[in-house]
Amino acid sequence: MHFTDFGLHPRVASGIGVAGYENPTPIQEKAIPLMMAGRDVMGLAQTGTGKTAAFALPILHHLVRGRRGRVRALVVAPTRELAEQIHDTFRTLGRATGLRSATVYGGVGMNPQIQALGGRAEIIVACPGRLLDHLQQSNADLSSVEILVLDEADHMFDMGFLPDVRRILRQLPSERQTLMFSATMPPDIRSLARDALRDSTIVQIGHIAPAETVSHAIYPVEQHQKTAIIKHLLGQFDPQATLVFTRTKHGAKRLAQQLDRVGHLAVSLQGNMSQNKRQQALDGFRQGRYRILVATDIAARGIDVIRVSHVVNYDMPTTADAYTHRIGRTGRAERKGEALSLITRDDEDMVRTIERMLGKPLRRVRAEGFDYRAPDPDSRGPTEFARSPRPQRGRGAPLVQNGSSRKGGARQRHRSRRGRRG
Ligand code: AMP
Repeated sequence: MHFTDFGLHPRVASGIGVAGYENPTPIQEKAIPLMMAGRDVMGLAQTGTGKTAAFALPILHHLVRGRRGRVRALVVAPTRELAEQIHDTFRTLGRATGLRSATVYGGVGMNPQIQALGGRAEIIVACPGRLLDHLQQSNADLSSVEILVLDEADHMFDMGFLPDVRRILRQLPSERQTLMFSATMPPDIRSLARDALRDSTIVQIGHIAPAETVSHAIYPVEQHQKTAIIKHLLGQFDPQATLVFTRTKHGAKRLAQQLDRVGHLAVSLQGNMSQNKRQQALDGFRQGRYRILVATDIAARGIDVIRVSHVVNYDMPTTADAYTHRIGRTGRAERKGEALSLITRDDEDMVRTIERMLGKPLRRVRAEGFDYRAPDPDSRGPTEFARSPRPQRGRGAPLVQNGSSRKGGARQRHRSRRGRRG
């Protein structure tokens, strides 16, 4: 199938060239014709599938002919980063349409947003909280909205935004087209879909499995070896753009500093940073000034950097879905990507869960040239090393192969609640 088969308005079709897309992705093939026919669509797809263009193209096609100077399409997204990304997609694809898009989210000034909501933009991409503030202060007139998109609905649910989303829905005309995207369909999302969509068609892109173009490798290590091995691996691979995930905000910040200190152009992205700093980090990564972005799950939600070559799980995620979501940042749109995970004994159960989801075993790798016997830099004395190594558990290959020593006392436990918010 070709983009020309959709019959998009020529000014919209020209945006596809600007974006550099050659052929539609599977979700675009399925969803664009339905959306162009005015149908409500529930898209079960994660980021990395091309879902943003799947809704942006039909929206631009629909809006290009009609009136200007009023808000006619509203996209609601869980995070500022995702909102910015969607806005960028509209700008790129809509370059020749003269349609204007604007973002609305917290942490930045209200005034430009008030103007946009008052009709300076036809397309608004908003996070729920700030949009609701505007609605409560009567800053926004959404009575002309013809198309609503609820993007990453499952994440809006995770982040507690569903009540806000429902309040926003009440302020929209009931005569509208609604498009909803979610990687999963828990009961709350199903119920939201029932209330927000009319006679909708479900479009599902595979199961939520990572792209086939991603190769997965796991590096069994002790907790204390993680930083050393990541430095070692980064030195070996010379990756172009690497996204590293840590469990905590503090961990993200510290690791970025440690990597930066040894010359790896690294920056962190975590929830303690100001909006300005977050944007600087993201822009720097996108433009290649930083080659490594160390982030927590929440902070990295929706990040769209097409040239990510490697995703590294410094800390393993707590669910298989989160693994899929992290890995979704690489191997996008037919490009090759690599996923590397540092695993300790405590992660064995999660590894098995992920293997079941992928339907294949993850490749266990021993880092060539890495000194697995080097002592834990944080240990404080010989007593730390006195405990005998713990026997291996369960099935699968040994955690550290080739008979290297294991220093049980240096192991840190991370069984406790793994924070989801970054
Ligand atoms: P998304 O799932 O919307 O986050 O998109 C993932 C990435 O794929 C983005 O960087 C898009 O620019 C890119 N993309 C979207 N559609 C296409 C396409 N048809 N061909 C190539 N790349 C695409």
